[in-house]
This record gives sequence, structure tokens and C-alpha cells, in this order.
Amino acid sequence: MNSTDATAGLTVWAEIDLDALQHNVRTLRARAAQSQLMAVVKADGYGHGLLPVARAAVAAGADWLGVAQLAEAIGLRDAGVATRLLSWLCVPASDFAGAVRRDIDLSASAPWTLDAVAAAARAEGRTARVHLKVDTGLGRGGAFGAGWPTLVEHARRLEAEGAISVVGLWTHFAMADAPEHPTVLAQQDTFFEAVAMAERAGVRPEVRHLANSAATLVHPSAHADLVRPGIAVYGLSPVPQVADDFGLKPVMTLRARLALVKQWPAGRGISYGHVYAPESDTVVGLVPAGYADGIPRNATNVAPLQVGDLSTRIAGRVCMDQFVVDLGPGSSAAAGDVVTLFGKPEDGPTAQDWAAATDTISYEIVTRIGARVPRVWLGGPEAGAGS
Ligand SMILES: *Cc1c(COP(=O)(O)O)cnc(C)c1O
Repeated sequence: MNSTDATAGLTVWAEIDLDALQHNVRTLRARAAQSQLMAVVKADGYGHGLLPVARAAVAAGADWLGVAQLAEAIGLRDAGVATRLLSWLCVPASDFAGAVRRDIDLSASAPWTLDAVAAAARAEGRTARVHLKVDTGLGRGGAFGAGWPTLVEHARRLEAEGAISVVGLWTHFAMADAPEHPTVLAQQDTFFEAVAMAERAGVRPEVRHLANSAATLVHPSAHADLVRPGIAVYGLSPVPQVADDFGLKPVMTLRARLALVKQWPAGRGISYGHVYAPESDTVVGLVPAGYADGIPRNATNVAPLQVGDLSTRIAGRVCMDQFVVDLGPGSSAAAGDVVTLFGKPEDGPTAQDWAAATDTISYEIVTRIGARVPRVWLGGPEAGAGS
């Protein structure tokens, strides 16, 4: 991919390859061909841009969209996205009426949520769609233990009154990214027991769902009626320890342009703290991207970079707005040259390479790319329509 004129004046930017995203959605659909697919677009589409990502995913066949926060769901609806949509994190004063009015499915892990949703539904004169969440061992959201039958009975009473309809039963894995871990099958068994209990109590769900990206890719027995991949939609593997790339293509490429190039003598310290000094006289470049843009500060001296033919690393401390790259003695690089921080493997380092270098997961690398970094959308359903 070349960085066209559209990026000429940009210091740092994220190219978002919507064709790759659509390829990933189709690849995931084929992996779970018997199930519906919910593309998870929370956290601004894992940093890739909520609306373009949502529209591209739907155009590629996503049946549902999933978000964490109600504000994200409302943003999608108010932008005209009409796809089935589940929002799963709320607090007592959340805008449940706004959600019900906009046909947003809501998750409930506790009776108070059901009561709040039912009150909103009565006020709006509608029936609210609810997914009951069971904690099968993640130890996070969901009703646990005796809380499950209590939640189910509570829901049945509100269903009888017509305020809510339980359309989904669901749970989330603790360790689906450790393919052999016994908790995976144990949680799956616990889930299907919880489903059976709810069905005995009269619940008639449209969808039972538990698979995140890792389970979608490596645990077919967890596909159930609906899979909920997030990170894999963005082309990054949830199981990087597994050599297979599952045919996924990374969607985000983070690039910057050199803001300054200068000669630098051997042994002189570079950037705050002088934690890097070149061994010989060299040429250094200034990269205008820093931790305000989501570059981890602990990428200092370790995160990989590609500058033309040169594969190298960050030299010295990552600052708020900038860091330095050692371009090597005799470099002919010039201000304005493009630096690729991460993206597709054929192009240079990947987000997974950055994650490995900074002791985190690729999710955090892409999701934390800051609001200050312009997204440049390429391809996708509206490609060629002008922008
Ligand atoms: C974020 C999230 C997902 C997607 O997880 P990935 O590991 O990115 O596929 C699915 N379900 C829930 C409840 C989530 O919070």
C-alpha cells in the first residue's frame, strides 16, 4: 500500500484497510458457517473507527454488531446503522429508554438491570429485547451460581407482563486464548446447563452465544447460534502463540513522516534520559508520534520500525509527541520520508510484534492509538464513492 497525497501533510496517521476487514469478516463467517456473526466494534472499533468499521462489517455479512457501552450503541443508531445491536455494560442511571427506543438489545446480569429495562420499556410502550448473561467462570460480568436461577425467574415475570423479551442467553470465556485449557470445556458445559435450566423455566432464546475470536477460531464446539469475534475482525490473532494466521489480514497500519533528519555523533545520548546512544557516528530521524498518540512509553528502545529498506527499532525514550529512530551511518533518509510503525507482515512490523516487544497484547496496541491520530480509510463498501 502506498501512502498517497492524502497523507502528505500528516505527521502520524493510521491507514484502515476496510477491504482487509471485510475479508476477515468473510473468513470468520466461513469458520462458523452454521452460526450468525456479531462483529464486536466497541472501543471505537478497537481504535479503527466505529462507523466505517461497522458499515464495512455489515456490508461483508455481519448479522449483528456488539459494543460495550450504550453511548457507542446510540452513536451507531443515530448514524443510521440498523443492524441488530447488543450493548452489554450499563449502570443504574444508563439511558435505558434511549436504548429501547432505538431497538438496541441489552444485556442483564442482575435483577436491577431487568427492572430498569422493563421500566424503560413500559415508558416507551415497547417490549425490550434482553440477553441474560451467566458467569460460567470468567469471574467478571454475568449472574453467578444461585444468581442465575434468580435472574431467570425475574426475567420470566417481566416477560409474562410483556415488558421484556429474553432473546439471548450468553456467557464469556476466561481463557479461550489458551486452546488446551480445561476451563474452556468446563465453561462451555456450565453454559449449556444454564441454558437448559432457563429453557426449562420457559425462556425461548433466539440466540445462545459464548465464542469470542479465540473460540470462533479454535473451539468450534462453542460456536452455538452466534459468534462474537472482535480482534480477529481487525486481522489480529487472539492466539499469537499458534503459528496459524487463520487467513486474517491486519487492518490497521500506523505510519508517520520523519520531521527532522540530522547527523549524530557516536556516544551522544538520544532523547529524555539518554537511554540510547549510537555506537558509531550515525544519522538520526525524528518521528512525530508519542504516547499522546498511543505509542506505549515502554516501547522505548524496543519497538520495531520499518523505514524504507531499513528494519530497526525506536532509539531512546518515547516522549509525549515524538521519538527518535537511528537510521544508520550514511543514511539517505530525508524529512518527509515515511516510517511504518506496524501493520501488515509484508510491509514491516505487526501490531503483534509491538505487543511482544512491549509485553502486552495486540488488542492494547491498536485500541490505544489516540484520538489525535487521523484515520485514513481505504477500500470498503464505499470505495470509489469519493470522500
Ligand atoms: C470484547 C468482547 C468480545 C470480543 O473479544 P475478542 O477477544 O476481541 O474476540 C466478545 N464478547 C465480549 C463480551 C467482549 O467483551
